[in-house]
Amino acid sequence: MVEKKVLKAISSKSSDEFYSPVPKNFVKGKTKFIFVTGSVMSGLGKGIFTASLGRLLVDRGLKVRPMKLEAYLNVDSGTINPYRHGEVFVLDDGTETDMDLGTYERFLDITLDKNSFVTSGRIYKNVIEKERRGEYLGRDVQFIPHVTGEAKLAVLNLAASSKADVVLVEIGGTVGDYENLFAIEAMRELAFQLGKENVCFVNLTFVLEPKHAGEFKSKAAQLGLRKLLELGITPDVIVCRSQNQIPEKIKEKISMNSGVQMNRVFALPDIDNIYKIPLFLRKQGVDEKILEVLELSKKFKANGSKSLKSWTAKNLIPERKPVTIGIVGKYTGLHDAYISILKALEHCAAKSKTPFRLEWIESANLEKPGGENALKRIDGMIIPGGFGSRGVEGKISAVKFAREKKIPFLGLCYGFQMAVIEHARNACGLKNANTTEVDAKTPSPVICILPEQDEIEDLGGTMRLGGFDVLISPKTIAHSLYGSLKARERFRHRFNVNTEFIGALEKNGMVFSGKAPKKRIMQILELSKEAHPFFVASQFHPELTSRPLKPNPLFLGFYSACRKKAGL
Ligand code: GLN
Repeated sequence: MVEKKVLKAISSKSSDEFYSPVPKNFVKGKTKFIFVTGSVMSGLGKGIFTASLGRLLVDRGLKVRPMKLEAYLNVDSGTINPYRHGEVFVLDDGTETDMDLGTYERFLDITLDKNSFVTSGRIYKNVIEKERRGEYLGRDVQFIPHVTGEAKLAVLNLAASSKADVVLVEIGGTVGDYENLFAIEAMRELAFQLGKENVCFVNLTFVLEPKHAGEFKSKAAQLGLRKLLELGITPDVIVCRSQNQIPEKIKEKISMNSGVQMNRVFALPDIDNIYKIPLFLRKQGVDEKILEVLELSKKFKANGSKSLKSWTAKNLIPERKPVTIGIVGKYTGLHDAYISILKALEHCAAKSKTPFRLEWIESANLEKPGGENALKRIDGMIIPGGFGSRGVEGKISAVKFAREKKIPFLGLCYGFQMAVIEHARNACGLKNANTTEVDAKTPSPVICILPEQDEIEDLGGTMRLGGFDVLISPKTIAHSLYGSLKARERFRHRFNVNTEFIGALEKNGMVFSGKAPKKRIMQILELSKEAHPFFVASQFHPELTSRPLKPNPLFLGFYSACRKKAGL
């Protein structure tokens, strides 16, 4: 327990030696903190572990708010290439984040805001802006205490704004990286300031199993943990990731070497289905031990795993004949670029107890002769979001194929715009119709820049971003799917349907069944049931709001059309 005096001294005015701002409405002890770090290597599945831990705590009745402290210098994820780093996940408030935020929202079934995503770039930017405003009152600005102070403030801000029982912080990167050193130091300081009973450190490490050795090797894990100890942090709980189940002997070595009791060292081998992870952790007592550290075990008892078992069971997909869904986009081997789409399909698969198989169709290949053959095997087609001109003609010909061959079609953002262009060209006779994103001089600019976007020059955070209301027209397919005349969905675009062409498009059979409330922005389009078994597209990204056990309505409608087409 830290003396109140110390906390007060540490947190008072900015001019103090120990600059460490605390938000006004932060109540010490109200919110506890769990910090998740990773050692040995990246790619441990820290995001999924953090989300699973969150699920366990929610299951016990705690109010949990997760947060990612991302190590990179980008201010947000908006300018990062998704084919390199995975999809850009957009929050309802328009924050462009890492795909881990999607995992948190889905596993915890909550809507997060900007307070749950902070990058090193954002922290440095805050520090530099404060310096320019003279907020450091003449002091030289330093890594410690100013950058660490800013990192602590970000964590405390989430606690203060959410009033959660637990704030669950995933620290991006690996222990030993340069980038996250200050974040780890900040968390060490915070544990000192707040008192040990308010903070739990969890380290995810990795146990190797080299083929040539024929056994598990714990040295890398030991060294990784040593690195954390060097930084002044003894983890309260260690979770050993590995390919296969590790023996007790390995856990003993890790326990002895790091000074963490055996009953706080857990194993998490690769598991075939991520929805099984929370229950797997519960069975070993991971959440129980963490709550013990936080002195919360009495207040939040586990309810015998009954609800968790049912959550797990409902998310599993039986092995049966699958539907085949084609995704026409840019294929690079990194499926993470389309992760929310895959998750949304998983939600539908679990709900309908029908699995799916994916066909990745490289849109640029559809521009070559015979390219269409790839489309013949599918029961449904998704054209996802995208930017720029590469593969656009291929996507437009894919829309034509889906429309003519009556293949269920779901267009998402750029896919919506492709459907408009195809309709303009082939149903309205506007031969050279295009989006001005691809052809600035097209005679029929059916997709054009949003008026408010015209003057913007910066790339970061400047699109039409985040959640907006969608007004749905009565008696349309969208209406029957949403079961409501209003929906809220998330957007990330610069271009939209040119209002000058709406009349012509509608006259030739396109129905705009979802619109923005005040502006003339078309948000959902469809072809009538008589014209096509399922042809729907949205200017928004419905995949971002789909949740386990609550699939997004547009996805669910599409999925059941695919099942029908496949005779399943
Ligand atoms: N490039 C299109 C636009 O900016 C579509 C964006 C997207 O698919 N997310 O409007």
